[in-house]
Amino acid sequence: MRSDARIGVANGARYNFVMIKTKTIATIGPASRDPAILKQILDVGVDALRLNFSHGTLEDHALVLQTARRLAEERDLPLAIMGDLSGPKIRTGKIDLQHNRMEIGNRLVIQRTECLGSSQRLSTTYPKIVEEVRVGERVLIDDGTIELRVVARQSDELICECVRGGTLFDRKGINLPDSRLAVSALTDKDVTDLQWAIRNRLEYVALSFVRHPDDIRELRRHIESAGGDQEIVAKIEKPQAIEHLDDIIAVSDAVLVARGDLGVEMSLTAVPVLQKDIVVRCRSAGKPVIIATQILQSMMESAVPTRAEVSDAANAILDTADALMLTGETAMGKYPVEAAAVLQQIAQETEQYQTRLATTFEPWIEEEHARVDSSLAAGAKLLARHLNPPLVVVATRDGKTARLLSKHRFEQPILALTDNPRTRDKLSLNYGVIPMLISPPTDGPALLATMNRLILERNWAKCGDSILVVTGSNLPTQSGRNTIVVHRIT
Ligand code: PEP
Repeated sequence: MRSDARIGVANGARYNFVMIKTKTIATIGPASRDPAILKQILDVGVDALRLNFSHGTLEDHALVLQTARRLAEERDLPLAIMGDLSGPKIRTGKIDLQHNRMEIGNRLVIQRTECLGSSQRLSTTYPKIVEEVRVGERVLIDDGTIELRVVARQSDELICECVRGGTLFDRKGINLPDSRLAVSALTDKDVTDLQWAIRNRLEYVALSFVRHPDDIRELRRHIESAGGDQEIVAKIEKPQAIEHLDDIIAVSDAVLVARGDLGVEMSLTAVPVLQKDIVVRCRSAGKPVIIATQILQSMMESAVPTRAEVSDAANAILDTADALMLTGETAMGKYPVEAAAVLQQIAQETEQYQTRLATTFEPWIEEEHARVDSSLAAGAKLLARHLNPPLVVVATRDGKTARLLSKHRFEQPILALTDNPRTRDKLSLNYGVIPMLISPPTDGPALLATMNRLILERNWAKCGDSILVVTGSNLPTQSGRNTIVVHRIT
């Protein structure tokens, strides 16, 4: 199982095994969709794969999905697949590559109707841009490489002045950080991609350019009305999302700090502080938070990352992010497997330091303590601290109890036993959780016996060790009761 692949013997450690608790996600693209590469990426211990609907066709994604599911099944590994919906990203239209150089001070007209663009005039994928962007607002093209400012507006065009020059290309992203756009959260393409994601039972769906909690509610309505059960990841990359951050976190299942577009929409130098703030808020709300983009960017070209990149990844872990996501490194880089392996190594070493210093941030959420399951998780944390078991086991049907434990950041790995394959795969993304599939237990003693055997077989504890076992109330063996049991391994 994946958990076996990720657990090694740590000589001299307090426990007889260590695990990498930070979860890692690899974006799959041309550099990694070959089955042999995909296998190596999974072998190094990646927990989840991202299919980016902004690139490639659904046929390309279907092939990756088929291979990934087969590889995971062959080795009985939990694996979460995330489909990343493009959201309302606006792009340049076609550009005449002979006349595409923008210099500071140049005037450029953005027009409503389609045209072959140049440094004088261009069209975009969002014709209403000419109505919704106002004089004085910025138009950023190609990750902010080119900056324009709107100086006048006419019925069917925006007159812009170039503030930062560069070269225009076809279908490059346009960011409008100052503008309030009426564009809907889900484009027609997103709806098509979402239907595909639901039909193909992806575990997670991420939404790009979220501006308001209603964007997430709309996505959830689409998923529920199509009978899907996907967990929703809100990508934070717009100033409007920062304005509504807590409300967006509250209605999402997880959050992704999309540093690429965030660095364009906000100022680049604001990204580190925004990242820390988003992580703290997500942790306080008990929602998993993923850090993404340019984590090991130099590994697009080089087999080793820079010191600064390694430090950045380690610092994201020290900030207590739940997961790190590779983007271009695994999708298009020259060293996709090496990048995934380096990330694992950074996580392992950084977590050892974190454990030594006991630096883990612990959120306590008062109102949640009124709930039985949250109180149980908090109580289990206290017991684990006092009893110091080698691991904490949770028996869970839909993953809720395992997620509550994950939120509390136990020092010990959380072994999540479930008879539901869907829960096992979804839990791949939750910090510190080793998801494992078991046959449905007939009663409480049978569950304990299964757990006892699995732990001994894997040498994760020895006879006489005491293990903490937490059970969710909706398991058939529980008759509606939540329990915490201290079980002695025999
Ligand atoms: C980002 O902007 O950082 C990001 C992860 O999103 P995308 O890859 O869709 O640009």
